[in-house]
Amino acid sequence: MQARLRQTARLVVAATLHYSGALALWRIFLRGVLRRRDVCVLGLHRVLSEEERRRSNSAPAMVVSETTFEKVLEYLHHHFRFILLDALLLPDGMDATGKKPFCAITFDDGWRDTYSNAFPLLKKYGTPATVLVTTGAVGTKGGFWIERLRRSGIPAEAKEALPRELGPEPDVSVVVEWLKHMPIEQRERHLRRILGPEAGDGKSGENDAMLTWSQVAEMSREGVEIGAHTVNHPLLVYEDNETVERELEESKRAIEERLRKPVRAFAYPNGDWDERVRSGVVRAGYLCAFTTRTGWFRPEGDFHTIPRILLHEGNVTGPGRKFSVAMLDLTLAGWR
Ligand SMILES: [Zn+2]
Repeated sequence: MQARLRQTARLVVAATLHYSGALALWRIFLRGVLRRRDVCVLGLHRVLSEEERRRSNSAPAMVVSETTFEKVLEYLHHHFRFILLDALLLPDGMDATGKKPFCAITFDDGWRDTYSNAFPLLKKYGTPATVLVTTGAVGTKGGFWIERLRRSGIPAEAKEALPRELGPEPDVSVVVEWLKHMPIEQRERHLRRILGPEAGDGKSGENDAMLTWSQVAEMSREGVEIGAHTVNHPLLVYEDNETVERELEESKRAIEERLRKPVRAFAYPNGDWDERVRSGVVRAGYLCAFTTRTGWFRPEGDFHTIPRILLHEGNVTGPGRKFSVAMLDLTLAGWR
């Protein structure tokens, strides 16, 4: 009920600001008056057809539908200028005189639908993009532990063994949030207890498949920038120095060996970073790193903690799950 109220309030605010022209004015002000070269870096995870969306075990906040994604791209091409990662890395060369603000698009994790659904649309609209790949997951099916947990649910007897602070009948999303914030080894132990010995098995689950190396290579050949997103997708802030270093270096090396191109970009799993992790990213040789902090990137800011605007079906559609320009506009303005 509360979520529905919040969504309605969001719709009202979106419609008011959009149709009064306030959001458009704000963008003109940013570029025309301040001459800022801020870049709206978008973050997406999965682009799915209706059928795939029904079968997928990913959380709704990870998904945008194919039809919505195409409408988003169409709109962005009218109102923004898409830039390559090269331009983002060398902002001095950016032409700040045009009327349209800059935009860059990123995809996290390395889902197979990035290749099968998003990539054809990116090509159709000539949109440059960066795909951040979890190298240990390449070629696997079933998604990450979150999809495994959402797929199998939590058996009643396992619920009893969960920590009391999660409440008497914790929802899967509550358990996911708890399991996220711990070292990977500790989480795997919990998952084995909750799901049984099959917990580590990512082989089943055709609907949550990851990219293969040949798909990664094909996208790279066609101009998609391939970056890294660790080997095993741990939240790096909970891991020791040795693990952080290994996750950062091995994922970079694996992609570079396959593609014979330098890996320049990184995305922090779950957006989680701290000074120690950030230093590790710099030391590993990444030129930039994306977080999930909401906002536009200022080129005079820090290249290793670039904020993004995360897009999903819920924040770009209105009533009846129809694409809504007003909702997209509000989301792009950084409204969470
Ligand atoms: Zn991720």
